[in-house]
Amino acid sequence: MQIACLDLEGVLVPEIWINVAERTGIKELRATTRDVPDYDALMRQRLRILDEHHLKLADIQAVIAGMGPLPGAHDFLNRLREKFQVIILSDTFYDFAAPLMKQLGHPTLLCHRLKIDAVGRVADYHLRMPDQKREAVKALHYLKFKVIAAGDSYNDTAMLAEADAGILFRPPQNVIEQFPQFPVTKTYDELYSMFVSAAAKM
Ligand SMILES: [Mg+2]
Repeated sequence: MQIACLDLEGVLVPEIWINVAERTGIKELRATTRDVPDYDALMRQRLRILDEHHLKLADIQAVIAGMGPLPGAHDFLNRLREKFQVIILSDTFYDFAAPLMKQLGHPTLLCHRLKIDAVGRVADYHLRMPDQKREAVKALHYLKFKVIAAGDSYNDTAMLAEADAGILFRPPQNVIEQFPQFPVTKTYDELYSMFVSAAAKM
């Protein structure tokens, strides 16, 4: 029995912070885990920038509400869910992801929560647990499932390594070079085929 674990941003939906950066014109918000591998340093930087520009949760939610899944993502996910139980493992926040999950048919999502203060300012972030993508795969192994995982970025590589099979989807060149052990896919058809062929080898 195999479970498919998917990253969210860059695999099924656009990078949320990049969209916020584009809508608000704040270039510094474009940084992602692709640029700053230390997630805590990246989040501290984001919260500081939001404060400097007086942006609140509602402002960011307004941007996210206007984003959709990546073209073809919903069909791919539906196809994958016919074959596997699918769990999305993301380092985003439920507060951000909700409108996008609705557009993807409410798949199972394990992520984190923001701490919002009384005036709607993003005061802090709360990681449910450190290294949760890898820990989720370990927990599924404990439950005797095999895991096939796909992601696009640095913060997915521990998950891909822990899984029985790991697949990169549209990764940046530096991730391809640093993690040559993972096959690279560029389209949803390729990604779907890679899941199916990995499952057939187990
Ligand atoms: Mg990603």
